[in-house]
Amino acid sequence: MQLQADQLYSILMNYKKTAEFASQLDKKDQLSSYRDEFYIPKDENGNELIYLCGNSLGLQPKRTKAYLNQELEDWAKLGVEGHEHAKNPWMPYHEFLSESYSKIVGGKKSEVVAMNSLTVNLHLMMVSFYRPNAKRNKILIEADAFPSDIYAVNSQISYHGYKPKDTLLKLSSREGESAVRTEDIVQVIREKGDEIALIMLGGVNYYTGQVFDFETITKLAHDKGILVGFDLAHAAGNIKLELHKWDVDFAVWCSYKYLNSGPGSLAGAFIHEKHHKSSLPRFAGWWGHNKENRFKMPDEFEPIQTAEGWQQSNPPILSLAAIRASLSIFDEIGMDALVTKSKKMTDYLIWLLKTIETKKVNIITPKEKGCQISIQVKNADKKIFKIITKKGVIADWREPDVIRIAPVPLYNSYTDVYKFYKILDSVL
Ligand SMILES: *Cc1c(COP(=O)(O)O)cnc(C)c1O
Repeated sequence: MQLQADQLYSILMNYKKTAEFASQLDKKDQLSSYRDEFYIPKDENGNELIYLCGNSLGLQPKRTKAYLNQELEDWAKLGVEGHEHAKNPWMPYHEFLSESYSKIVGGKKSEVVAMNSLTVNLHLMMVSFYRPNAKRNKILIEADAFPSDIYAVNSQISYHGYKPKDTLLKLSSREGESAVRTEDIVQVIREKGDEIALIMLGGVNYYTGQVFDFETITKLAHDKGILVGFDLAHAAGNIKLELHKWDVDFAVWCSYKYLNSGPGSLAGAFIHEKHHKSSLPRFAGWWGHNKENRFKMPDEFEPIQTAEGWQQSNPPILSLAAIRASLSIFDEIGMDALVTKSKKMTDYLIWLLKTIETKKVNIITPKEKGCQISIQVKNADKKIFKIITKKGVIADWREPDVIRIAPVPLYNSYTDVYKFYKILDSVL
């Protein structure tokens, strides 16, 4: 059925394997002017590279410099006074991001906060939301989760005195398939739900690009008394999210992938409002303390009754400024328009890839996806990838034989997609 629908769609679209056709799609694209808002990396001859790696490090928006300069200037001019008297006062600076972030993840303003780095936030969230006991102590995660997430959950399990080997449950795809079926996740929750304390999944799996069914998983988990968190490293700024509505307990993300805020930039966290006034344990720091009397420096910690109550330190303003610059672009466009273009670009890419002999390439990304497409290049090794790179493609290679490519709707063009296909096809 699916294949027929795909075929019908490509007939309707009248797709063609030509540079002219890709260029026509670019001309019709209402977001195409945003490419000029970004610095596109170039080769040594000054030609733009085909950058398909925004899932790893997003490109730099040209407006970021002005946002950073503002804070550098205020720091030069004002010193410590900038906390209150900078054009954008540093004391509440993280609050300037709340509205934009709430739209990126589909939460309330009070449910999001920019802080720390992603893995650190994952640990802090597990301090509150992974509360194992003798009967219920297991964590459920996808088998090919990002290594840092596996290290984080395993170290939390050990920290509580359990053995990762018995306590971490891994969700695998079926033999011969690459995506994990929702029905199989449902089955595991039904069968083992009473032993599971926490479900922690990558909202979009970093390897296959699969988008998990947030709503179904969360609902069923809650029925079984399980808390649910998502790592949105590959989801934030890539797919449409409705964390509040889906009743997700917590989520964490980084801002340097699809959110284009620069290498190692500050991460974010979502904590559902139903937990804001709870007595869940947490690791505290002064920035999470009630703002009214924070500077009276009381000994007793009194948490802010929002996601901000999980903050620890005063945040790096330069990093926040870079995030703010980038989010201002997302605010202008909106996730709906981005997702619409993203779908069109990946549809064209998949159509092109399917014209290559199936014995050479296999698309492992399922139809539940964002803009990342992972392709297995059969009987290939890294040599192929090196040749593609030499020909001007910046993509990502995962051993043993997978290339991940992410046409990002903010700055990639249909022409990028076509050129990538052309190079891959010629190399194969
Ligand atoms: C990128 C990524 C990370 C990186 O973690 P940092 O703490 O930002 O270094 C972790 N988990 C996932 C799923 C990622 O995609």
